[in-house]
Amino acid sequence: MAGKILEIKDLKKRFSSDFLLDIKSLSINENEIFTLIGPNGSGKSTLIYLINLLMPADSGKIFFENEDILARKIDKPAVRKKMGVVFQEPLLFNTSVYNNLVMGLKLRSGNVEKYKNNLDFLIKKLRLKELLGRSPKTLSGGEKQKVSLARALLLNPRILLLDEPLANIDQATKDEFSETFFKILKEKGTTTLYITHDRNEAMAISDNIGVIDSGKIEQTGPREEVFRKPINEKVAKFVGVETLVSGIVVNSVNGVLEIKINDIKIFAVGKRDLNEKITISIRPEDVMLLSDVSEPEKLSTLNIFKGITTEIKDMGMFKKVEIDCGFALVAYITETSAKKFNLKKGSQIYAAIKATSVHLF
Ligand code: ADP
Ligand code: MG
Repeated sequence: MAGKILEIKDLKKRFSSDFLLDIKSLSINENEIFTLIGPNGSGKSTLIYLINLLMPADSGKIFFENEDILARKIDKPAVRKKMGVVFQEPLLFNTSVYNNLVMGLKLRSGNVEKYKNNLDFLIKKLRLKELLGRSPKTLSGGEKQKVSLARALLLNPRILLLDEPLANIDQATKDEFSETFFKILKEKGTTTLYITHDRNEAMAISDNIGVIDSGKIEQTGPREEVFRKPINEKVAKFVGVETLVSGIVVNSVNGVLEIKINDIKIFAVGKRDLNEKITISIRPEDVMLLSDVSEPEKLSTLNIFKGITTEIKDMGMFKKVEIDCGFALVAYITETSAKKFNLKKGSQIYAAIKATSVHLF
């Protein structure tokens, strides 16, 4: 099993009475892409500064390759040499792109030859060849970040810290570039801490995910787990669960619960007490729409609701459909399905949801 590259324990940094970064525990494994998502001002950049030793912590420990890097005796420049970092704003110098690429390398080891293969690899993969002679001033935002990322990767860092490097890039460029870039990281096996507030991107590229809010990590785990089983309503809202309603447990048989929401009943899987008040969530992509159900199945693991569409929003790649089926349910469907159902506001539709897709809090 791959070991931990970074381990944080009880790390604290206070800026004001309003803001305290307080990370009880966080670890990043070798070769993984760990994504930290959270709203603006939640402390993401502060965490990067602390890990990269750009700012002192108030208390706590950061172990990097098993060494406590907040210890007084630590050789900070030596530690920082083993980390690559890219910020939201590209930090490039007024010389050629090529010189920017090899600048860190020259400062640190002076040996360009040793990294020649890696340099060629990055230039090829990121298609930087045409840019090498140009000045960063003449580059687009996306191109500048490509250069910054290549520079950070050139020295084969033990960990790559990325603080929303793609945040200021237009969506089309970002989609294309993001795919290439994260493929490179996987190919090289670069351990990465990736910070973003884009949950779709997090879902697409991460191994493990952490959700941070107001300086505290609310949940960490494999991306599927965090997206499918958010541990509280705060995380659920942030990871994009659209349906969040409360109900009461009215029956429980063999691990299948019957939950009453308004006037309807929904099956879910879990252990709760009778009459317990709970909140349930359903991810929009877990809702299947059906135009007709001839013989509504009485399976206790499948919920089928009859409803009326109250809103249909075009989201580009798919449509977001809001359905009143006794409670407000949100489903995502493809353009093709929407056409097939001839779906309009006020259409009658059936929604099917597996009991295992109903998450409980
Ligand atoms: P994020 O990157 O998640 O948007 P930051 O880590 O930049 O959040 O900021 C977290 C909080 O700390 C914010 O309230 C911000 O205003 C505050 N903050 C960040 N840096 C400083 C600083 N150097 N001095 C005082 N307050 C700061
Ligand atoms: Mg930030």
